[in-house]
Amino acid sequence: MDPKKFEAIIIGAGSTGSSIAFNLVKKGVSNILVVDMSCVGCGQTSRSSAIIRLHYTNPEVRKMAVYSWRFWRDKFVEETGCEHDVFSETGVVFAGSREHREAMEEVVSDLKKMNTDVELYEPDVFKKEIFKYFNDEGLDAIAWEPHSGHCDPNTAVQCFISYSKDGGAKIMEGKRVDSLILDGEVVTGVKIKGEMYKADFIVNAMGVWANDILRNINLELPITVGKEEVLYLLTPEKREVVPPGWEDLALGFYSRPEGKTQTLIGGMEAEETNEEPIPGEYTAPPVHLIRMRSDPFLKRFPDMKDAKPHAAIIGYYDITPDWQPIIGFDHRVKNLIHMVGLSGHGFKLAPAFGDIISDLIIHGSSKTFNIEGFSMRRFEKQESKHSKYKYGIVG
Ligand SMILES: Cc1cc2nc3c(=O)[nH]c(=O)nc-3n(C[C@H](O)[C@H](O)[C@H](O)COP(=O)(O)OP(=O)(O)OC[C@H]3O[C@@H](n4cnc5c(N)ncnc54)[C@H](O)[C@@H]3O)c2cc1C
Repeated sequence: MDPKKFEAIIIGAGSTGSSIAFNLVKKGVSNILVVDMSCVGCGQTSRSSAIIRLHYTNPEVRKMAVYSWRFWRDKFVEETGCEHDVFSETGVVFAGSREHREAMEEVVSDLKKMNTDVELYEPDVFKKEIFKYFNDEGLDAIAWEPHSGHCDPNTAVQCFISYSKDGGAKIMEGKRVDSLILDGEVVTGVKIKGEMYKADFIVNAMGVWANDILRNINLELPITVGKEEVLYLLTPEKREVVPPGWEDLALGFYSRPEGKTQTLIGGMEAEETNEEPIPGEYTAPPVHLIRMRSDPFLKRFPDMKDAKPHAAIIGYYDITPDWQPIIGFDHRVKNLIHMVGLSGHGFKLAPAFGDIISDLIIHGSSKTFNIEGFSMRRFEKQESKHSKYKYGIVG
């Protein structure tokens, strides 16, 4: 067997590429190559807040979210054989004002049909029954997901890759794919440091770098890069005031507990940037960031006023015009598959993405999801899949 000929080459070993590899091996396709210019999970996945929740106004993304949540919460350890459980159940709140209520009611009603225990509360009732340490000013409805939470993204990716490797996949770290090899309109492989690696299918799971190998063949995808900075606070002594996972449509922030000692806060918008999107961290949280993240958070949670800024990280999103992913075959180059443009909410959906792309490779179409609406052609046809909410990131 030619050691440089594979059934599929996956470019990128973040949450997306590693889940695709895991799903392929699970389904019996193990002659695959996963290649990453850095290391496994060292791209934007390494900076992910990794909140796992269900609330999406787009019905198909909602279905992907429920499928993925069940995987993270109930199946991960058994299916990957990983010794670590990567999911922490904290409960997640989705808080909205009057303008959001109708869509929230619709989403919660559908989620209930999917056996998810999600409930819609009036804010005062939520305070009495679930969590009282918040200021409900401006809020009209609270969607409560008691069994949602977050993951440890780094361990999750390592476990996907270990499973794939044990099953026969080849993993190359520290190797950059320089270009695609085309035979007319068919992609037949990739070039890595001048060497050719052939495959029946090439998967673009490169996140914010998605266009790097496409530009030189004039195939740019509509993806911009957005910067997201997350502030970490040290938990105050009065620990019961620490909120569960929280997505605040009214004030435009999200937060979640990080272990027993910290709380992280992120924003719902991302500033477009031309910076080199290398994920990283500040040596000390800058003042502007402390203000930007703490102000809305402390307005909502005044009892967290003694929580001290501790650290801050920098990550980048691969954002499409409607903040939804690009999924599927490229219509211009045969056998090239894209799973990119995750727009800041792609970690939680990685199990669904892995299932979809492995099905595309094996069967030519997804057996579980209808991905028609996520093709790159929707932008040419101006068919937006944007969330019903202002912030596309929350779906
Ligand atoms: C700060 C932050 C917070 C987030 N919070 C959440 C959240 O709470 N919930 C959620 O669901 N999502 C969240 N996300 C989004 C989520 O983390 C990402 O959508 C997801 O992890 C991206 O995974 P990926 O594998 O597509 O990309 P990446 O993890 O970036 O992986 C892409 C890989 O491709 C490799 N690569 C690129 N070019 C090449 C090349 N030419 N050759 C070889 N390898 C290459 C890179 O080295 C990289 O490892 C957050 C993201 C950030 C930045």
